[in-house]
Order: sequence, then structure tokens, then C-alpha cells
Amino acid sequence: MYHGKVDLHLHLDGSLSEDVVARLLQREGITMSREELQHNLRVEPECTSLVEYLQKFEVPGQVLQTEYGLELATYELLQRLAGQGLIYTEIRFAPQLHTRKGLTQQEVLKSVLRGAAQAQRDYPTIRAGILLCAMIGGSENRATFDLAKDFYGNGVVGVDLAGAEGSRPMDDYAPLFHDMATCNIPYTIHAGECGSWENVKRAIELGAQRVGHGCGAIKNEECMDMLRRNHITVEACVVSNLQTKAVPSLQSHPIKPFFDRGIAVTVNTDNMTCSNTTLRHEHETIASAFDFTDDDFRAMDANAIRGAFCPEAEKQALLEKL
Ligand SMILES: [Zn+2]
Repeated sequence: MYHGKVDLHLHLDGSLSEDVVARLLQREGITMSREELQHNLRVEPECTSLVEYLQKFEVPGQVLQTEYGLELATYELLQRLAGQGLIYTEIRFAPQLHTRKGLTQQEVLKSVLRGAAQAQRDYPTIRAGILLCAMIGGSENRATFDLAKDFYGNGVVGVDLAGAEGSRPMDDYAPLFHDMATCNIPYTIHAGECGSWENVKRAIELGAQRVGHGCGAIKNEECMDMLRRNHITVEACVVSNLQTKAVPSLQSHPIKPFFDRGIAVTVNTDNMTCSNTTLRHEHETIASAFDFTDDDFRAMDANAIRGAFCPEAEKQALLEKL
């Protein structure tokens, strides 16, 4: 079976290994048994909502408040991904969530970039870009996007909007994204995770080149057509969508209709630890429900590379590696 090599939608805080969390907790004088760690980091199979899912970010949020923790977590994540055979990934996080102990957003970002740079030196088979997330309801989004301007091309490859979709109108964030468009900084937006095709449409109208999840698009033909015509890359995260009940069942996940209608859909993990998944597990899950060939999976990896926010020359090199 073909194993995925590219993950465009991966949150740092949802993808920490138990070992890293245990080490960082220990530095704070906290010990947790393996069972407690698992309970605090992973959703139960019977997870019923996005709210329950988001509770699993509390402990990661607690330990990712120091330069040491952020650098270590990023390094170890890329080390693991390289070991799984990935050749490219984009890791995203919201700097404003890591300033509780006094770090500035810039110090947070620099720590992540140090970890990413060191991992790519030690494991040259993997390349990584960093995406900076603005948060729905966040008060420091402007500073995050200003930081993206300062570091674009130096580790940062683009930006995102994450958080509780639907709790605020997407249009509240239009000025931020117009600013990014003016600076030619590409962006993806979490849209359609909770069923809204209107949010997918709005994300495209706001200039997003990619949408995170996009599940809701299947409800509206015009929206499906917009995805295809505008060559929007859809970052599907199937296992996560099942856990948060973004889709009622695996069989009803729109990944197959997206693919069959020529939409540039890709396979992603979202949160490796919280969702207890890997890119390989995503492929196996998808293959268990849908009729995808190895060539189809390879085509979705190619979609991911074409939709990546890294420089064009790097994309060509990655496409050749496929
Ligand atoms: Zn996400």
C-alpha cells in the first residue's frame, strides 16, 4: 500500500508525543502516569463533540509556554515525521496561545523555528514550513500576522485562521486576510469543519488558496464548483472529522466525491496525538471505506505538494521525489 509523504494540516500542540509532554511536565515538577497522560492528550473513541476534542489541548497548552518546550516539541515532531517517511509538512500553531508565561509572540515563533531548522539539519529527508494561525476570538491576531510579514520566507510559509469556527462571522477577519493578500503571503482557512458550506465559499472569496477540512462544501453544488474552478486545495482530516462529528460516519466523508469531481483534495492528520493518528493510519482508514487506488493516494500527495506554500523550486524537487 502507498504511504503518504506529505501532511499540510498538522497542529503542533495536538501532535506532541507523550514522552515530550512527560519531560516538559517533569521540568515543572509534575509527574503523570502513562494512563493519565493518555487520558489528558488523546480523545476517547467515543468522543462526541468538538468541545470534548478541544479539551485535549489543555495540557499541551500548559507545557508549550517556554522557549525550551516549543523548540523541543517542534524538533521531536519533525524527527518522528521523518521517521515515518514524510518528505514535506507544514506545521501550524497560534503564537498568541504560548505567551502565558511572558514570552512574546516573536520569541515563541523563533523557538519553533529553531526546532524546525535543527530537525531539518539532522533529518534532511524532510522539509518543513511553518504556518502561523490567527485565532477566532483571539485578541492578538494583528500581531501574529505582522510577525508573518517579518518572517515570511524565513521559515514561515503562510498563515491560517483556526479556533471555534462559526462563533464569529468569518468576515470579521477579512481585513487581516486582505492585508496578507496585499503582501502576497498565502493562506489557508479552517472552513466547513462543522458543516457550513457558506464558510467555505466565504474563505474562497477572501482569497484562501486552501481550506482546512471543507466538509460542508458537499452540501452545495456551487461551492463544490468554486473549489474545483479556483483550484483550491482541500485539507481533509478524516479521523479528526469522525471524532469531532464533523461527519456522521466514515462512509459519508466527502473525500471521495471531492476527489472524483477533480477537487485538489489531500490527506492530513490534523492532530496526531489528540486524534491518535498518523498519515499511514489516515490512509488505512480511508482505504477501508473508499475505493482509492495507490495511484489515487499518490495523486493526493501530488495535490498536497502543488498546494504547499513553499517556493516553486522546492515544490518541483518534491514532486520529483514522489
Ligand atoms: Zn485544524
